[in-house]
Parts: sequence; structure tokens; C-alpha cells
Amino acid sequence: MAASPSSTRSARGSARARPSVAVEDYLEKIEQLIQAKGYARVVDIAAGLKISQASVTAMVQRLDAEGFIKYEKYRGMVLTSSGLEVARRITHRHQLLTDFLHVIGVGDEQVVYDDVEGMEHHISPETFKAIEALTRYLEKNPALVTRLRASS
Ligand code: CA
Repeated sequence: MAASPSSTRSARGSARARPSVAVEDYLEKIEQLIQAKGYARVVDIAAGLKISQASVTAMVQRLDAEGFIKYEKYRGMVLTSSGLEVARRITHRHQLLTDFLHVIGVGDEQVVYDDVEGMEHHISPETFKAIEALTRYLEKNPALVTRLRASS
């Protein structure tokens, strides 16, 4: 899953360009590690994303060049404000989509996790807002959820 030079260039083309799936996943993981441990190391990112350390190092340098993180080889990394914005958006999407699958009755946690990992990157803001509203509505109306589940 090495980033190709062309995708690097297109992502850099505009500050408003949508980050790639890989960029979103890296920033999400870096933010999780910093929240949990206070720092994020290449070795921990590699383990968390099941990617080689060499690939992680290359990506971390790219994230630094694109302004999502500040990386110093022996001192680790911090998220910039734009990196934090992407990480928080993905974390919020991950949580909401997890809540959504739970409330509609998907019980297998591995299925939930795997589906959310895909969905979180590919849903438009409009669809996400609709799913968010539906999820919160169902959570507030457990009788509806019971009827939904009984009908399936
Ligand atoms: Ca993810």
C-alpha cells in the first residue's frame, strides 16, 4: 500500500483536496495513539495498521510534507491543526457509524468494525448527516428499534 507519487501530487495540488483513505487512516491512528499513550511512534503505527515500518516512515514523511503532522525522526510526531481536523472527522464518523450499525442490530463486532472501516471514508457529508440523524432518532425511540428488529 505504498503511496504512488501521482497520488501524492494530486493530494498536494489543493489544500482543500480530500485526503486519501490512507491519509485518513494514518491520521486517525496517530490521533488514537497520542490520546492513549501521549505519543505516536512509527513502530506503533506500523503495528496498529499492519503495515511495514518502512512504508509507515515514507507515509509519515509525506504527511509532514503535506502539512498534516510535524515529524522529527528522534522526537516523534504531533498533528498540525489540519491533521487534527481530519483525524477528528474520521474518529467522529467511525463512532457514529458504529452506533448506527449497533442500533440497527448488527451484533458481530468484527463485522461492525470492518464495515465501519470501509464506510467511514466513502460516505458523502450529506449521507453522513442523514445517517447521523436517523441513528440519534432510533436511539431515542427504542420501541421503534424493537419493532424494526422483530420485523426482520
Ligand atoms: Ca479507519
